[in-house]
Amino acid sequence: MKYSLVNRDDRISIELTDQFRELAAQLGMTEDRESPDVVLSIGGDGTLLHAFHLFIDKLDEISFVGIHTGHLGFFADWKPDEIELLAKLMSGPKKGYERRIVKYPLAEMQIHTKSGTEVHYALNEFTVKGAEATLVARLDINDETFEMFRGDGICISTPAGSTAYNKSLGGAIIHPSLETIQIAEIASINNRVFRTLGSSIILPRHHHCDIYPKTHQKIQLFIDHLQVVHDDIQSIRCRVADKRVSFARFRPFPFWTRVKEAFINSDKPQP
Ligand code: NAD
Repeated sequence: MKYSLVNRDDRISIELTDQFRELAAQLGMTEDRESPDVVLSIGGDGTLLHAFHLFIDKLDEISFVGIHTGHLGFFADWKPDEIELLAKLMSGPKKGYERRIVKYPLAEMQIHTKSGTEVHYALNEFTVKGAEATLVARLDINDETFEMFRGDGICISTPAGSTAYNKSLGGAIIHPSLETIQIAEIASINNRVFRTLGSSIILPRHHHCDIYPKTHQKIQLFIDHLQVVHDDIQSIRCRVADKRVSFARFRPFPFWTRVKEAFINSDKPQP
């Protein structure tokens, strides 16, 4: 088994990285930064997002695993004191544990500018904002004008990202087995002149949406934790990507349990 490590570059993550390397060598695993089978992210969800974008061109060949060094993460669900067990499970089958690959849908964004088209993939979401002023844009769904948006921005999230920025915007939480993208508004201006739907919208795999920013607007785009600024965008097409991301699971951790543990904390005594 070939593995690669990505860490948050803080003291605990670096120590865990060294510890994993030692364990892996004892268990006969090889470190391969170019073409690993598994990428182990040590840090938090942000570290896993970083690892995802580092290996974006190899998504068909690799799966991800995450150890969290802070609070329980959505992607990073192994605790630091489980590193030895995780190394053993990664090195081969172990009685009582079953290795499964879970695949999650991604969002695809095609940015059309005068000079060409850029394609990006997000594990959590794309966010489109005005860089210097309020975003003014037309939103089309399946090539038909849907609404004129004026406000802080538009967030297009994956099901895995529905628990991230999308949740703060009042969007629905979507199970990652559903191949969808969700469009959520960020502080839209609604009055007698400007009107948007106000609710978030969930599109299935065979639908797409296009965002047409008003011409000459400087647009700030976030692709998960990454940021790019453009001032010549003609349109942005968003849809469910053909690519998917794989996570290696060695024990069950149902999505709704993760949601409950992250946001409700059921361990607290009930009234
Ligand atoms: P960060 O350091 O600001 O952390 C953002 C928080 O979001 C962390 O607590 C992380 O654990 C959590 N998070 C990340 N992905 C998640 C997911 N899929 N489900 C639930 N929680 C998740 O930023 P970062 O670590 O670089 O992460 C970038 C992410 O931050 C973006 O993809 C976006 O989703 C999120 N974000 C959220 C808001 C907001 O909620 N208002 C605003 C901006 C960005």
